[in-house]
Amino acid sequence: MKADSITKQASCADDYDPASLPADTALTRILASISPLQATETTAIRSALGRILAEDITSPINVPTGTNSAMDGYALNSADIPAQGLSELHVAGTAYAGKPWKDRVNRGDCVRIMTGAIMPAGTDTVVMQEHVESEDQIIRIEHTVQPGGNVRQAGEDIATGDIILTRGTEITPADIGLIASLGVPEIRVYRRLKVAFFSTGDELRSIGEKLADGHIYDSNRYTLFGMLQRLGAEIIDMGVVRDDPAALQAAFEEGANQADVLITSGGVSVGEADYVRNILQKVGEVNFWKVAMKPGRPLAFGRIKDCHFFGLPGNPVSVMVTFYQFVQPALRHFMGANVIEPIRFRVVCQSRLKKKTGRVEYQRGILSRNENGELAVRKTGMQGSGILRSMAQANCFIILPMECGQIEPGTEVDVQPFFGLV
Ligand code: AMP
Ligand code: MG
Repeated sequence: MKADSITKQASCADDYDPASLPADTALTRILASISPLQATETTAIRSALGRILAEDITSPINVPTGTNSAMDGYALNSADIPAQGLSELHVAGTAYAGKPWKDRVNRGDCVRIMTGAIMPAGTDTVVMQEHVESEDQIIRIEHTVQPGGNVRQAGEDIATGDIILTRGTEITPADIGLIASLGVPEIRVYRRLKVAFFSTGDELRSIGEKLADGHIYDSNRYTLFGMLQRLGAEIIDMGVVRDDPAALQAAFEEGANQADVLITSGGVSVGEADYVRNILQKVGEVNFWKVAMKPGRPLAFGRIKDCHFFGLPGNPVSVMVTFYQFVQPALRHFMGANVIEPIRFRVVCQSRLKKKTGRVEYQRGILSRNENGELAVRKTGMQGSGILRSMAQANCFIILPMECGQIEPGTEVDVQPFFGLV
């Protein structure tokens, strides 16, 4: 080997590389260089799950629409009930939810009322049926009553004109129900993002092909497909592209012409056949290409004309880690979503974790309750960036900051759970 071919180049095996960006700086730079979409479209609320609201939703009605009973009981005029002693009222009729009592209720009278029924004119209070004695058409009340008790006022939950959801909200099932409760059939959302991706590598074969020596199946396109599907993107799968500069350049240009975002995996480090960064430099602009993290250090970010570009590493775990830490927040921001701080919390780690200083690590962990019923985390096993099984078994990332070294069992660590309830 000639001396000049051993020039100091950072590789994945190094621990500290001053040319690598800290992970939070990398994310800040990504978010700063992507402007949220402006284009919107209308969608029926049932099709809106996961879409990003492009307008504030104001309520066209009061909720509840009319003042109604919160209990099964008797609607009465609180002025008829003395502060002390027994009172007797005559039951004039019954009010049902959806079938109101239309007449005015006279002094000394009351109306039997069901939960949700509109309060009849002349009444202001509901006494629970458990708090009265009834005989024929007479009720006796020994309780003092709280004027206005057990009554839901019109507009108490939502008043006409209230803003109930704001632009940038990612629509959840509760939001769909809330919008339905206002009688609103359609909403404005930002249009879907078009995201193209391809894998690079002469060793990659697609499912259905025979594997010869040195071949592996391409899994990155499948994980990317799933992760992008969850984000509601319009997906353009460009397949596998060979480690050939001309073929790669053509694929870059084709992807950039079709999509808002182009994502590649592999070919981004400093190996002989790692062309991605150079081609990005040729056809577009490189913003950065190295982040002080593991797995995933070679992570290229830039743009080709109007298309944002992410060159993810080739290793299957690195693809997922860099996607969740950078691409997912970037795409959500691009789609017009409000930035949500990821949920992270500290728990005791039950495993010994190998870790070198100088980079942030995203190890794969399993959060569960220990024998004392406390939440604790342990690692999934071997943490190699090619071991995709570690992602499948994990339910959280264990995030170890730059300055932290090896972790001994019993130490508290930061975790970022994979799961969200709704
Ligand atoms: P590279 O960044 O191209 O050097 O790839 C790093 C490692 O990830 C190599 O072992 C590749 O074989 C592997 N790899 C690259 N792309 C894929 C893919 N699409 N699916 C599975 N493994 C991959
Ligand atoms: Mg490769």
